[in-house]
Amino acid sequence: MSRISAVSSLYVTSYGQRGQCSNCFRAFEFTAIVKERRLCKSCAENFHGRQNNWHEIKQRTDATFKCAATPQRPSEVEGCGAENLTYREYMTGSCCDNAARRLQADFENLMSEDDRYQIFKILEKYYDDDKEDLDDSIHNLNAAKEESRKAKEEKDKVCRKINNKEKIKERILARLDGIEKELENDKKDLESKENLFNAAKMNEEFNDNLTKEKRNSLKRLAKPLNFLSAKVFKFDQDDNDTKGEASKAADVKTEYFEA
Ligand SMILES: [Zn+2]
Ligand SMILES: [Zn+2]
Repeated sequence: MSRISAVSSLYVTSYGQRGQCSNCFRAFEFTAIVKERRLCKSCAENFHGRQNNWHEIKQRTDATFKCAATPQRPSEVEGCGAENLTYREYMTGSCCDNAARRLQADFENLMSEDDRYQIFKILEKYYDDDKEDLDDSIHNLNAAKEESRKAKEEKDKVCRKINNKEKIKERILARLDGIEKELENDKKDLESKENLFNAAKMNEEFNDNLTKEKRNSLKRLAKPLNFLSAKVFKFDQDDNDTKGEASKAADVKTEYFEA
């Protein structure tokens, strides 16, 4: 493992639980417990030979780092002052432009071919991780777009349903309003018809009473008339005129008196 993948202790603010090799004391992105010691990959290989299962046992560092542009000499440019960077943030100079420039200069001036290869592999891994994340994001974004398109469709469908029902309700309310007015007019009409009916009924009762009175009056007259007509018929049976008058009186009795 090259020098460059280890961060100089000058830039470490905390080694954390998994940040430091217990043999070379440097800070690496990954360490592992090998034979009960926390070691970097190259120390583990120096002591115990090639670690075929390194990818399974390695643990990512929890160390924190300063901005890579933190001045180590008075002549150096100021960094951003960050002191809580992850290994990746330190290594990519993502905290500020000066850190990015400083790392770029290191890559160009200070490293051997092997260093360059090691740093290339680290950055390539970040790039691949990010690209994978981006692919996932794009996939999720497309799925979310489709979801929201469908949800909008559903929402619009309900909106249309509500609008239609509102229109139907308006029409029914307008019709109801009309019916209420008609009902009001009908009630007024009923009132006047009831008045007419009452007046007619009173008139009917008046005439009914009058009729009863007249019948009673006829009844009272009928008895003597019948009696007299019998007499008249008996004594003047040859007199056609008188007989006619008597028959007439008898007719009055049958027509009205027993009605
Ligand atoms: Zn080591
Ligand atoms: Zn910085």
